[in-house]
Amino acid sequence: VLKGTGNGALPPMLEQYVRMRDEVAAQLPHAILLFQVGDFYETFGEDAERTARLLRIALTHKSSKDFSTPMAGIPLRALDSNVERLLAAGVCVAVADQVEEPGSGLVERKVTQLLTPGTVTEERHLSADENYLAAVATGDGYALALLDVSTGEFRCAAFHTRSALYDELSRWRAREVLLAPELSGNPALLSDFQTRFPVMLSPANFEEAGCCDELKTVLGEVPGSLTSAALRRACGAVLGYARVTQQGELNMVRRAVRFEPGAHMRLPEAAVRALELFTAQAPGGVALMDVLCQTRTAGGRRRLRAWLRAPLLDELSIRARLDGVETLTRAADLRNGVRSLLYRAHDLERLSARVATRRATPREVASLARTLELLPEAVRLLNGLDGLLGGVRARLAGLPEVVIRIRAALVDDPPIRAGDGGLIRDGFHAGLDELRNGAVGHRAWLAELEISERARTGIGNLKVGFNNVFGYFLEVTGPHLSKVPSDYRQIATLKDRARFTRPDLREREREIARLEAAAGRLELEVFTELRDSLAAHAEALSEAAGALAELDVLAALAEIAVDSGWTRPQTADGGGARLIQARHPVVEQATGGKFVPNDATLGAGRTTLLLTGPNMAGKSTYLRTVAICALLHQIGSFVPADGADLPVYDAIHTRIGASDDLAGGRSTFMVEMSELAAILHGVTARSLVILDEVGRGTSTLDGLAIAQAALEHLHATGAHTLFATHYFELTRLEGEHPGLINLHVAAEEDTNAHDGRGGLTFYHQVISGAARQSYGVEVARLAGLPAPVTARAARLLTALNTGSDDGRLTRELAALDLGRLTPMQALELLNSWQRDVVGAEKV
Ligand code: ADP
Repeated sequence: VLKGTGNGALPPMLEQYVRMRDEVAAQLPHAILLFQVGDFYETFGEDAERTARLLRIALTHKSSKDFSTPMAGIPLRALDSNVERLLAAGVCVAVADQVEEPGSGLVERKVTQLLTPGTVTEERHLSADENYLAAVATGDGYALALLDVSTGEFRCAAFHTRSALYDELSRWRAREVLLAPELSGNPALLSDFQTRFPVMLSPANFEEAGCCDELKTVLGEVPGSLTSAALRRACGAVLGYARVTQQGELNMVRRAVRFEPGAHMRLPEAAVRALELFTAQAPGGVALMDVLCQTRTAGGRRRLRAWLRAPLLDELSIRARLDGVETLTRAADLRNGVRSLLYRAHDLERLSARVATRRATPREVASLARTLELLPEAVRLLNGLDGLLGGVRARLAGLPEVVIRIRAALVDDPPIRAGDGGLIRDGFHAGLDELRNGAVGHRAWLAELEISERARTGIGNLKVGFNNVFGYFLEVTGPHLSKVPSDYRQIATLKDRARFTRPDLREREREIARLEAAAGRLELEVFTELRDSLAAHAEALSEAAGALAELDVLAALAEIAVDSGWTRPQTADGGGARLIQARHPVVEQATGGKFVPNDATLGAGRTTLLLTGPNMAGKSTYLRTVAICALLHQIGSFVPADGADLPVYDAIHTRIGASDDLAGGRSTFMVEMSELAAILHGVTARSLVILDEVGRGTSTLDGLAIAQAALEHLHATGAHTLFATHYFELTRLEGEHPGLINLHVAAEEDTNAHDGRGGLTFYHQVISGAARQSYGVEVARLAGLPAPVTARAARLLTALNTGSDDGRLTRELAALDLGRLTPMQALELLNSWQRDVVGAEKV
């Protein structure tokens, strides 16, 4: 552990460090141990080098007579911010504190916290978003367990393929992934996981018997829904690991929810990225979540993210959410009432979890209570409603009155720590009141002492004072020392004054200290009892927290629907899609009222839309608009359109833009092709496919060939496909494949432009038919390419177009079935080809 120089024995403190470091390493092999030495947390040896590098702090050396080792330290008060940085870098941290006052010998220390990126529960280390710890095991396919320690949410699923597992892992954005030995022991698999996810090489226990024991310890049983060994191992491993980091307690986890990955729309990682659901691709850009996020609570925000990540497939569930949103859009009073109430709510999910683990601080309990007090009002607002909102009301009404009344016990702004006293209201606990009143009497006596002693002794400036060394004392200045009565006993002499005490003063003082200590202990007892009584209601609390989060999301979706003029989508029976005047919510916001809405129709006889038009015309925006409307429909939201009929899609596949995966070391084209491969393998007749500029990353002919082949393949599947391309040549496919329709984005060349740059006006309007040409040269001119360059490009383009005519001849020739051609037809063909060639060359 310590690579030091010199061969003397380690100093005792370093010996202690090495011992604790070994203990920690047995549980979390790569964790850094922060070891309290006075006002600093120190690290030594290799850990010091790592820490100094990660935190960019100075590396020093700890040296004794014959030993020296690297050392890096952070001040105690900077612990939180530095732990955050280490966690963000994917490093686990153990904190060893001094647990006794330093004396002459070696100070006793204990590991008080084990912090890992996926298991922190301290509010200060958490973002308001979800924080999943994941474990993966294999057996018949793959099993995944996901745990959010901060809320107690625990779910698992089984998968047949690795790609389905990957989709789910990225859907939940696990912050820490534990792999079973059969995965982590396979170098190829391991590196595949590591390039995608924050994999922790921890010795989590994946051994089945131990995992079942773990399940019994935490949940009281091995749930019947864990039907395979792989599921039991993943679930047990995740709990075991989390329990270590929580120092043995995992009370907030109540049950394992087995979910069916197939119950949700497939939304591959590429689609999440391309549709910019959570993060915009351009730095500083706006994501869909930013527009949608009108939620008022952290729980609501997490719930909305979960909905976005996992759109529904079940029509009835979609309708239930839409009904809830619609009710809230219609009743403005209800919506405003709910939202202003939510504004005052704290993070009930996390607070419930903190209470369930009996860790909540007085301040957290007060926040919990303040939030619970809002519930009766919410219940009243929701009275008489049915459906989801009725369900929300029932879950909010399920809390016993006693829980809500808990605030009667706590003062309004209790201190953070329970040991500091001053938590419990006067009048709540008779015994506590008595102790406090007792102390009050003594204090009053002390307060009067100054006056009465001045009168008795005739020393006008006699003072009663207090300090930590002597406690209460009577202070007399030099000139009056002769008047000091004989019952005073001198305890300190200063330059110009002296301090005295008296037996009865000592008596009172001891009494006050005794009462205060007793009151403090009693307060702690009362508080602990209170907190434990809450823990007993953890189930109802987490139900209420979930209900509140759901209410928040429904109200937020209603708010944005009303604000932005969205409509309720109808779930189309016939499987067709029809959007009227649809908008892209993010681009619409950015274009500030200038957005041009568009219609879209897909369905029988119209399954593939081939969209052409110049760059920057709005093709990509149009594609995304359709995909976002489909997605919003299936999370149960209104959609940004004047009218919408939408089918329930089983997946949204996208391949948009030429994103470089430079970090991953793959070329743009390779990335593009592997994403395309994943789409072509996964697509079904019920999928929505959005492809933008396929084939761009390679030479024109290669790209064109691949684009056409992919387009034809997709068209054959019957999936709803929107295909935007600058390959103008593809537009002729319309005639060859029924159901493949050409669309283009309107743009107009401005022939009157006199500035020599030419001009192109974009209307952003999608209309039927193919674009007249690809306008690439005009866009280049617009962008300011020098005139000679664009002129030359225009000439080259003409030549290339002619060349591609030859290509057409070749194709037609190759496609001829000579056996069925009459001589007359052959002659006619020859004639038409000759006309084409002669016409093209203007001979
Ligand atoms: P393309 O894919 O054809 O290159 P984009 O869809 O990326 O074009 O659109 C380019 C820009 O044009 C967008 O950033 C946006 O500012 C604007 N735009 C696109 N569609 C519209 C629209 N319907 N209404 C108004 N502006 C739009």
